[in-house]
Amino acid sequence: MENSILIYNTLSRKKEEFVPYNPPFVGLYVCGPTVYGDAHLGHARAAISFDLVFRYLTAVGYKVRYVRNITDVGHLENDADEGEDKIAKKARLEQLEPMEVVQYYTDRYHSNMDQLNVRKPSIEPRASGHIIEQIELVKKILAEGFAYESNGSIYFDVAKYNESHHYGELSGRVLEDMLSNTRALDGQDEKKNSFDFALWKQAQPEHIMRWPSPWGDGFPGWHMECSAMSCKYLGEQFDIHGGGMDLMFPHHEAEIAQSVVANGRQPVHYWMHNNMITIGGQKMGKSLGNFITLDEFFSGNHDRLERAYSPMTIRFFILQAHYRSTLDFSNEALQAAEKGFHRLLAANETLKKLKPSDVSSVDIAAITKGCYDAMNDDFNSPQVIATLFEGVRVINQIHDGKETISAADLVLLNETFNIFVVDVLGLLDEVTAGGQDSKVNGLMELILQIRQNARTTKDWGTSDLIRDELKSLSIQVKDTKEGPVWSVED
Ligand code: ZN
Repeated sequence: MENSILIYNTLSRKKEEFVPYNPPFVGLYVCGPTVYGDAHLGHARAAISFDLVFRYLTAVGYKVRYVRNITDVGHLENDADEGEDKIAKKARLEQLEPMEVVQYYTDRYHSNMDQLNVRKPSIEPRASGHIIEQIELVKKILAEGFAYESNGSIYFDVAKYNESHHYGELSGRVLEDMLSNTRALDGQDEKKNSFDFALWKQAQPEHIMRWPSPWGDGFPGWHMECSAMSCKYLGEQFDIHGGGMDLMFPHHEAEIAQSVVANGRQPVHYWMHNNMITIGGQKMGKSLGNFITLDEFFSGNHDRLERAYSPMTIRFFILQAHYRSTLDFSNEALQAAEKGFHRLLAANETLKKLKPSDVSSVDIAAITKGCYDAMNDDFNSPQVIATLFEGVRVINQIHDGKETISAADLVLLNETFNIFVVDVLGLLDEVTAGGQDSKVNGLMELILQIRQNARTTKDWGTSDLIRDELKSLSIQVKDTKEGPVWSVED
């Protein structure tokens, strides 16, 4: 690859040059959703941030195997392995089989991702489909002496691990500080230390999502699936692991500890974390009452929304911030994003109509280079967008006859917009990209053409049939000097 890409590695806390283990192949693992509710803006941000990474690495020639999991078992309500399984709880409340809950929300997640033009991962494994791999991993960790059994559950021995490794190396935490900050154990607890995490949990009689294991019926701890599935599909050491910042601790910290014990080495070369979305500076959450799902954004059906926002507006809004910056939601910010997005698309249309001159008075190569430089600097999408707007200014000036562009530069500018607007940023014109409106427009044009042909050949039967049938559908056709125009009557 001629591109030298810098990635901010959460593990080393600095930008590092991206050198894959086995170029041109790249292994990319991203923690996907726990499917017990509708996707919200936070889900969109994680998915779009790593979609951008996936798209750019692909665009510059890497062959990326992108694994994004579906958590459908083992994610309890509380980070301390307490409370009910989130999916089992939803199933109980809605009187459904847990896998019905999983299917329902997985389908809805997929449809939201399609709307946002997020590319499908290469592999989308489910935790419940990899119980055997997770049990094998628990066995390995037990055999290495870094886990213990307690009442049919298996816990990772964090204090023991920390004697020879640094538990907290990713999140920058220090175990001694964590010790003094955690509540004292009441003696009822099965764990040696409150920060020990479950590798396997014994299922209580009422727990329906359960599998047999050497330690009795139970289910895997949440952190296990990502260690087991990333290793299965990407190997013991792979290039990039991504996820939201909220997953850094304990989820990713635990993943590292599990894999280091099982395989004797660091599993991941580059750890990437996207920042959170806030609403009025506050974290988004169900309990805070400021929780807006993607469907609510698309329909405008929420108290905090002044109106509906299209999926591409949401996508553009997210890409306008760097993935490591916080992003604050407001109606004003979304409306500004929508305006910017439309300006970019309008210029993209104008670009297709530009005519070349003998010489260029503009520097197109600088715009192209600016886009690559921005992406090579830790996937800086706001900088790419700023550079594309430099292109928008140039396009409009050429269109107004104030600047000129050569044929070769026009090809380069078209190419640059195609690569960065469409392929890398994944922005689509919602109307021409196959929205219902454009299909109806196309069909009406066809029908009116047939009617016109019939009139020309004095085939009044066909022409009257079309007029009457359209009328019965409340579609009115008027003949004007410019040709027939149609409208829908109220
Ligand atoms: Zn994960």
